[in-house]
Amino acid sequence: AIDICGITKSFGRTEVLKRVDLDIRDGEFLTLVGPSGCGKSTLLRIIAGLESQTGGEIRIAGAAVDHLRARDRDLAMVFQSYALYPHLTVAENIAVPLSMRRLNAARRLPLLGPLLPGTRRITAGIRAEVMATAAMLGIGHLLARRPGQLSGGQRQRVALGRAMVRHPRAFLMDEPLSNLDAKMRVHMRAEIARLHRRLGTTFIYVTHDQAEAMTMSDRLAVMMEGRILQLDTPDAVYDDPADIRVAEFIGSPR
Ligand code: ATP
Ligand code: MG
Repeated sequence: AIDICGITKSFGRTEVLKRVDLDIRDGEFLTLVGPSGCGKSTLLRIIAGLESQTGGEIRIAGAAVDHLRARDRDLAMVFQSYALYPHLTVAENIAVPLSMRRLNAARRLPLLGPLLPGTRRITAGIRAEVMATAAMLGIGHLLARRPGQLSGGQRQRVALGRAMVRHPRAFLMDEPLSNLDAKMRVHMRAEIARLHRRLGTTFIYVTHDQAEAMTMSDRLAVMMEGRILQLDTPDAVYDDPADIRVAEFIGSPR
């Protein structure tokens, strides 16, 4: 489990997170949802280790991780902007975490054959993992392309693939679909939900889109002004909103 215990965050004199408590269960799809500016991205970045909190503690599997840097927390962040390397192929982009790990593990071992023309060399083991991952995401036929030759939905799949090959403890996603057109967004929603069921890994998903939150999540944490107002299943939040602001945001009948 990932435990968020009394997290506060201030930027200067503005407190944007106000003692947030949240227990994220192993394997669940948890969505942080709320209006723009309520603190969703800030909270996700603190969990990821990309930003430090002003107070409180993050625990992963019972151990405080506040001293751990982002890459030592075993969490994979998927960004809305994809952050792909434009000069690398799809295969090489997906392989980046694996190539890095290998380089770090055995700096002086020569790498084996190249998978595809490009600047990086990929071993047979990495190649197999990349191909299996790409196949799972339906981009197995695009491995030799570069990001500039892909649609938005395809780029988002590459970014997902790059997170998946790390086999992280959890996937952290900040509005990963917001750059896609409406049709692709609905399609990718279903794909991500399917991926979650298949992998069984914890997903922490951030969106300001209540429809997205309602359809994908095991549980929602409805945030407003730096606080979690309600944490429950989509049905429970819809049927029994904790207060009027939650009802209005979720669109519950009154
Ligand atoms: P959105 O849905 O628009 O992405 P959000 O819920 O992700 O919104 P955050 O990005 O977490 O909101 O921001 C929460 C609040 O903190 C906002 O009022 C924002 O202006 C403020 N904030 C975020 N980052 C900084 C920063 N680096 N310096 C000062 N204020 C910041
Ligand atoms: Mg945000």
